[in-house]
Amino acid sequence: MKCPVCKNPDLRPTMIEELLPAMGCEKCKGSLVSLLYYRHWAENHKPESDGAPGTVTEAPADSVNALRCPKCERIMTKYRLSGTVANRLDVCPTCDESWLDGGEWELLEQLQLSDKLPSVFTDTWQRKIRKEGSERMRQDILRKAIGEADATRVESLREWLNDHPAKSTILTYLYRD
Ligand SMILES: [Zn+2]
Ligand SMILES: [Zn+2]
Repeated sequence: MKCPVCKNPDLRPTMIEELLPAMGCEKCKGSLVSLLYYRHWAENHKPESDGAPGTVTEAPADSVNALRCPKCERIMTKYRLSGTVANRLDVCPTCDESWLDGGEWELLEQLQLSDKLPSVFTDTWQRKIRKEGSERMRQDILRKAIGEADATRVESLREWLNDHPAKSTILTYLYRD
């Protein structure tokens, strides 16, 4: 099997984690992970912490172009990881294999997604990411229009209002002019 990114070097057996084998490229440090092995590993591995996802200091380079599965040559499907990083994972649904670019496993660990991969490959997850993205875009537009301080005020007002039992009464009052 050839590396889907560099094309040339043969992929060699490697270990991403203890008990998680993969086929890795020595040149770009990417690796092909069997999702069958992955699920087995994830079930037998205890998550290190349940805290909030860590901040990502620098996201690794992501292969932007469509990749062909090293096993069956079909185009792999790309999945966004989160609303905060642009990296996408490539998956071949036919072979049940996922391609991680060099550094993306570490990124998954930082995002605390390294044991949640199958959820990332669902429509629900992908929809959630798109929603988060458009929400952040709306907040950016507001910030540019009225400045950081007022935008923060509006956002906390909105949060307070959303949970208020008399929300519609308050809104009617505000809109009366
Ligand atoms: Zn490579
Ligand atoms: Zn394939």
